[in-house]
Amino acid sequence: MTNRRKQRKKRIYFELGLLAIVLLFVVGFSFRSSDDDPMAAVKKEGPPIKVPTLDFAPEPKPILKGTILADSMKKKEQELKKQNEKQKIVYLTFDDGPSAEASKLLDILDTYGASATFFMLAPHIKEHKDVVKRMVNEGYAVGLHGVTHDASQFYRTKKSPLHEMLEDQAVLQEVTGVKTTLIRTPYGSIPYMLDSYRKETEAYGFQLWDWHIDSEDWKSNGSSFVSQVINGIQRVEGYGEHPVILMHDRGPTIQYLPKLLKWLKDNHYVMKKLDESMDAYHFKCENRCRPYGH
Ligand SMILES: [Zn+2]
Repeated sequence: MTNRRKQRKKRIYFELGLLAIVLLFVVGFSFRSSDDDPMAAVKKEGPPIKVPTLDFAPEPKPILKGTILADSMKKKEQELKKQNEKQKIVYLTFDDGPSAEASKLLDILDTYGASATFFMLAPHIKEHKDVVKRMVNEGYAVGLHGVTHDASQFYRTKKSPLHEMLEDQAVLQEVTGVKTTLIRTPYGSIPYMLDSYRKETEAYGFQLWDWHIDSEDWKSNGSSFVSQVINGIQRVEGYGEHPVILMHDRGPTIQYLPKLLKWLKDNHYVMKKLDESMDAYHFKCENRCRPYGH
């Protein structure tokens, strides 16, 4: 019996010991879990200390930074250069054609990537239909210069300029299918194209174009018109205008034209055509309120 009692006692001690271990384990676990609970930490220690953080991206490495900066500066510089070059525009215009050599003129313009505008006379359009069609096909601007090119005929009445332009317009349309409203009157708008005359052409939607620079190419058969135009460009640009240049569709001008086009290209000019969306430039009686042969 004593042995049995002893054994039971032993068993009780063992069970108590086991319970104590279990209790210690449970208490220990719950203590640890309260440490892991952030709220418990807040309750115990107040709000957590705020660790300062960087609110900007880390600086790129100096080598990378230099490259990005250099690249973007170079890009900007190129864009600006392009813009400046874009602003260097001239409008080449050729009157009185098409001549028998107009095809050669188109070849030269093409070589230099130049566009241009042709103010043409009805009889010459009829005479050289193919080259006029080529002008249209290749994207040049076609305009009207009348029929007679005789001041005493063209400006005879206030309606005669309108009638010549309408006839020229119909001829051009018949040959090319293009109905243009771009006009240039023979010898320019001053002094003959009086207000009463202009009202007639304006009523039909015609846009009257004069020029900033007279090449005076008709004055000689040499190349002197080239320097005349170059000087003119520099003068007109001083007024902040994109110059409209008057030349003629004629042999000697065509012969020396490459000299002018090379200068324009070398100096980064874009040679454009006039179009009907532009505000037509005409004389404001500056330096030219007088009869003027051309
Ligand atoms: Zn003319």
